[in-house]
Amino acid sequence: MTIADNLRQVRARMAEAARRAQRSPDEITLVAVSKTKPLALVAETAAAGQVDFGENRLEELWPKADAAAAAGLNPIRWHAIGTIQSRKAKLALAPPAAERQSGSAAICLIHAVDRPKIARRLSRLAAENNQPLDVLLEVNVSGEASKHGFSPAGLADDLPSLLDLPALRYCGLMTMAPFVDDAEEVRPLFRQLRCLLQELRHTFPPAQFQQATWQHLSMGMTSDFEVAIEEGATIVRVGTAIFGHREYE
Ligand SMILES: *Cc1c(COP(=O)(O)O)cnc(C)c1O
Repeated sequence: MTIADNLRQVRARMAEAARRAQRSPDEITLVAVSKTKPLALVAETAAAGQVDFGENRLEELWPKADAAAAAGLNPIRWHAIGTIQSRKAKLALAPPAAERQSGSAAICLIHAVDRPKIARRLSRLAAENNQPLDVLLEVNVSGEASKHGFSPAGLADDLPSLLDLPALRYCGLMTMAPFVDDAEEVRPLFRQLRCLLQELRHTFPPAQFQQATWQHLSMGMTSDFEVAIEEGATIVRVGTAIFGHREYE
C-alpha cells in the first residue's frame, strides 16, 4: 500500500460516513497528521493531492513547513494540533521572514487552545505581531484527568473573558477522545461536543461576537474518524491510517 492508496481509502471511508449521516463530504476537511514523519512522506502525500497537514509540536512544524516550501511542494495549509506550552507560545506565530529559509508558510488553524492562560498569551503575541490567529478551543468532554482542555461547564464561564481578547478568532471546538477498542464507545462524547458548539452558537452568536465564527468541530482520529463524522465533525485529524505507525510520539 502506498500513501496515495491509504489516502484514497481514508477519503472513501470519510465519504461513506458522511453519506450515512446525510452530509456532504465537501463539508469535512481531512488533516493529514504528519508528526514525526519525514518531509519525503509529506511530499508524497502532497503529490497525491493532500493540502491540509497537522503537526503537534510547533518546533517541528516550522522546519517542515519551510522545507516543504523550499522543495516547491504544492502549497500546504499547516494545522497546529497539539497543546501549546506557555514558553513556546511564540512559535504559534510565523517567525520573522528574515529568520526563515522561505517565508511563505503560516499556520492556518491552532486546534488546541486548552486553558485561559495560553489564550491570553497567544492573543498578546498575535496583537504585538499584528497577526490575528484562528483558534479552536479544546474541550475535555471525557473528563479524563490525563486529557487537556476546558471542562464543558468551565468553558461557558471562561468565554466572556476569552471573547474580550483582541487577537484571537474562535472558529470552533476540538476534542481528543480516549483510546478505546470500540469507536462506538466515544460516540456520546462527540455528540456532546456538537451539542456544546450549538449552545455556544446560541449564547455567543457570531452576529454579536464578531471574533467567534463557531463553524468547526475538530474531532476524530484514525480509530474513530467515521463515528466523529457521523456526529458532525467538520475536521478529522488522521495520522496512522495515512502514514502507518509512528516510531515515537
Ligand atoms: C497524533 C494526533 C492525531 C492523529 O492520531 P492517529 O491516531 O495517528 O490518527 C490526531 N490529533 C492529535 C492532536 C494528535 O496529536
